Amino acid sequence: VKKDEDVREGTHKKEDCKPAVFIPVDRLPEIQEARLRLPILAEEQVIMEAVRENECVVLCGETGSGKTTQVPQFLYEAGYASSGGIIGVTEPRRVAAISMSHRVATEMNLPSGVVSYQIRYEGNVTENTKIKFMTDGVLLKEIQKDFLLQKYRVVIIDEAHERSVYTDILIGLLSRIVPLRNKKGLPMKLIIMSATLRVEDFTENKRLFRTPPPVIKVEARQFAVTVHFNKRTPVDNYTGEAFRGILVFLTGQAEVHSVCRRLRKAFPYRPHREHTGSVLCSQSLSQSLPRINLDSYSALPADEGDEDRQAGIDDDYNEGSDLELELGDHPDSDHGERLIFKNEKICSSYCSIQLVFRPPPAGARLCVIATNVAETSLTIPGVKYVVDCGRVKKRFYDRVTGVSSFKVTWISQASANQRAGRAGRTEPGHCYRLYSSAVFGDFSLFSEAEITRRPVDDLVLQMKDLNIEKVVNFPFPTPPSSEALISAEQLLISLGALEEPPRHGRARLSCPITPLGRAMAAFPVAPRYAKMLALGRQQGCMPYIITIVAAMTVREIFEDYDRPAGSEEESTKMAGKKARSVQMRRLWAGQGQSVQLGDLMVLLGAVGACEFAGCTHQFCEENGLRYKAMLEIRRLRGQLTNAVNAVCSDAGVYVDNQMAPPTESQVLCLRQIVLAGLGDHIARRVQAEELLDPKWRNGYKTPLLDDPVFIHPSSALHKTLPEFVVYQEIMETTKMYMRGVCAVQAEWIPKLLPQYCHFSAPEESPAPWFCPLSGRVKCHQQSTFYRVSWKLPAIEM
Ligand code: ADP
Ligand code: MG
Repeated sequence: VKKDEDVREGTHKKEDCKPAVFIPVDRLPEIQEARLRLPILAEEQVIMEAVRENECVVLCGETGSGKTTQVPQFLYEAGYASSGGIIGVTEPRRVAAISMSHRVATEMNLPSGVVSYQIRYEGNVTENTKIKFMTDGVLLKEIQKDFLLQKYRVVIIDEAHERSVYTDILIGLLSRIVPLRNKKGLPMKLIIMSATLRVEDFTENKRLFRTPPPVIKVEARQFAVTVHFNKRTPVDNYTGEAFRGILVFLTGQAEVHSVCRRLRKAFPYRPHREHTGSVLCSQSLSQSLPRINLDSYSALPADEGDEDRQAGIDDDYNEGSDLELELGDHPDSDHGERLIFKNEKICSSYCSIQLVFRPPPAGARLCVIATNVAETSLTIPGVKYVVDCGRVKKRFYDRVTGVSSFKVTWISQASANQRAGRAGRTEPGHCYRLYSSAVFGDFSLFSEAEITRRPVDDLVLQMKDLNIEKVVNFPFPTPPSSEALISAEQLLISLGALEEPPRHGRARLSCPITPLGRAMAAFPVAPRYAKMLALGRQQGCMPYIITIVAAMTVREIFEDYDRPAGSEEESTKMAGKKARSVQMRRLWAGQGQSVQLGDLMVLLGAVGACEFAGCTHQFCEENGLRYKAMLEIRRLRGQLTNAVNAVCSDAGVYVDNQMAPPTESQVLCLRQIVLAGLGDHIARRVQAEELLDPKWRNGYKTPLLDDPVFIHPSSALHKTLPEFVVYQEIMETTKMYMRGVCAVQAEWIPKLLPQYCHFSAPEESPAPWFCPLSGRVKCHQQSTFYRVSWKLPAIEM
């Protein structure tokens, strides 16, 4: 252990940091026994000594070594939660925050009011809470309320290796907060915990910590994992390959489902099944695995008894942060399914996080098919075989155009090793890689930090709200590119959240926040949506805007009936459901003016209808809605309503679950508010006379893209093709499709979005169009029609 003797001047007083007492914990004997087997227990003294002597400590240890569950307990026992302050632990995933708080409460034999959690919507924190697990977004919000985080005595940043944006920002902020606290005589500790050993971004970053914090490594008792590479060159059909074994790591929900379906088909409720194809099953699955035959590989060793289980979990929660909803991961990326084999048949299959840790029934084998969610945050005991497809589904953004797409890409070597490591926790294991060693050699060593891969407008707004004006100077562990920072700043200026820089005046990237920006920062949604909320108080539109924003930030509220079906029967069923869903969407799109609100009207109609029916599972099922999404929208509507009421103390908005449809004039107002928020996402239909190339047929031109974008066939405006539309985002699938389309009127643009316009004399250019040079809408200013007042309602802060 490297000790850091060179402690920052004046910030460190040993006496302050000494815990007062030893707080006994009354653990059950079996828990105590299990704890003693964890590698981290052997390091308790070393860790606690380092924590006592340093402001910040970095702790590295293999997944499953006991970091998350044990370190908070060490701190508790050492009295860090006994003199008023509490121990806070941040997790990038909601599911980890919840399950870890439950686990630690159980281990410590303490109620959930003492070891608690807080995630975006819910929590069980009480006045007695001593250990608080939370998502990183929750702590970031708390920093906005109290920069010194005075209620915390220790903050643990867990899973720092995942490099989620909020974790990165928190580390940057805490690198300043902790010395400040210690200087003020309010001692505080920071512990950064990471699974992999690549922590140089934190320790060697001079802007972050002037004195590199000590790094403590916990050696895990890892058993050998035999890695088997695929010898054939790239397997494209990797779900097919994976199916032959009992596999763990796939990339998304559709794949997980498809493999589970095939497994269920191969191991139905039928005894004494003969082996087929390359899946050989012996007399009883409880005694041996189906043999995996990866071409020339030897089969998996058979007869390992009950311990053979495959890992994986389902994350019941959409991934995503608590501050920023729209940019959260695709729900698809967090998925898993647990199957239990008994006597050659699948006796049960689960999809719930609590059940993951439950041992399968005696004589049965557990097999869980999961996405990368099972990679590090949770450790399921007794995993022995891992099958790794080597890929992950990630969201990619085009920095210039903002077009996003989900792509399946290769994982990093670090991820591959993490996945393999899951097989050797309790005894030697095997990892079957569905790719060759040459392919592995081409993987990048580590995954990129998320902050370098996505737009940062929400982060910039949050930082400005913390009065960090020069965001470029922020001590990011890995800084986002300056293009990303510039385009974020520009977007925020055009939304009115930041002051416009005087021409040729102030340097770029240091515009201060406006009162509107402060109001926007108080809403837990991305800046474009926050702007809509800030403008929602006109003509009673607020409840509708809240609903639209809530529905837009929850991905995929509609069931996908285009996914591949498992059987003919299923396929017929799905076709019927699809027809019903199409019909319902048409109904929800409404008539008259409301049709112009397009896909957003469909969202509004769907939520309204669903709530009217009591938001039941059955209603969702019958009408093509995802039940979980509808529940999330309901919670989010409540939360946004509270936020609106808190920002505008006189707003008095309340959640009326069963709201009446908006009136014609409200719809008009809603469209203008939407235009105000999505102004940079404007597109104009290409006119017949401009059709140079057939590829532009029915296409739309946007300011930034050279290629046409389209209205998706499932959109409410697919047939109408209005001249000007705004869209929520562009997703690239077979074509570039706009999602969440709403029609806007050309004459609103110069009035509502002058910053996006290039004005000309009326006679010169009577109809608005895109000016090819500036990429702006070229139009004249002679319009009279507008209703949205840009004067903000008085905001009391
Ligand atoms: P790390 O944070 O280092 O990855 P953890 O503290 O999460 O390690 O896990 C330590 C051990 O606790 C693991 O063996 C894991 O299987 C076990 N564990 C964690 N949560 C539960 C639970 N809910 N039920 C049973 N065992 C659990
Ligand atoms: Mg952990």
